[in-house]
Amino acid sequence: MSKSPSPHRLDSVCVFCGSSDAADPAYLEDAARLGRALAKSRIRLVYGGGGVGLMGACARAAHEAGGAVLGVIPDFLTARERAYDAVETVVVASMHERKMLMFEHADAFAVLPGGIGTLEEVVEILSWRRLGLHAKPVVFHDPNGFWRPLFDLFQHTVDQGLTPPFFSQSWASVERIEDLIPALKAGLPTGVDAEPGAARLT
Ligand code: AMP
Repeated sequence: MSKSPSPHRLDSVCVFCGSSDAADPAYLEDAARLGRALAKSRIRLVYGGGGVGLMGACARAAHEAGGAVLGVIPDFLTARERAYDAVETVVVASMHERKMLMFEHADAFAVLPGGIGTLEEVVEILSWRRLGLHAKPVVFHDPNGFWRPLFDLFQHTVDQGLTPPFFSQSWASVERIEDLIPALKAGLPTGVDAEPGAARLT
């Protein structure tokens, strides 16, 4: 199996993104551009293992550009999400196992436009970050304010005193896909005790 993540280097990026082929073609193209950029930067792509939508576009582009790709897909989804088995693919038993394996193998998270599944994945990672369980960077690609309603909801929970203000520092967003990898690098922990006292999951 592939190497483990390193907390202060960007060797592996987990990408959460939509599985729908009906997405705006510009989003599909940006997903492919990110895949190529990851390959060029020699950063391994960790993703949900499907061959559809933005997921498939990103993985195919990374693979075709010579990049390393790890797909993690639950058995029951291999047909529906058309597992892209040209790359290293781990078939797991459940959604929970998938998410934990993707988390363990990633140094950072990129979030592209997606639907309810993408939302579920990123909100869990951010909730773990809010609890101090990890310090891995999370950066949204936010073309045309795609994620603005979610950012507003985050801020609403902060304004209402339900989420601590530091939560707003735990993620970033970029408008242009080419700014995504630099933003992830900028968010890497700089010291061994970047978040003292955090009970890390990894
Ligand atoms: P969507 O954004 O709805 O197109 O979903 C994007 C990806 O997230 C798809 O591969 C879904 O299978 C996946 N997904 C949805 N819910 C979960 C979950 N609870 N845990 C892990 N992956 C999920």
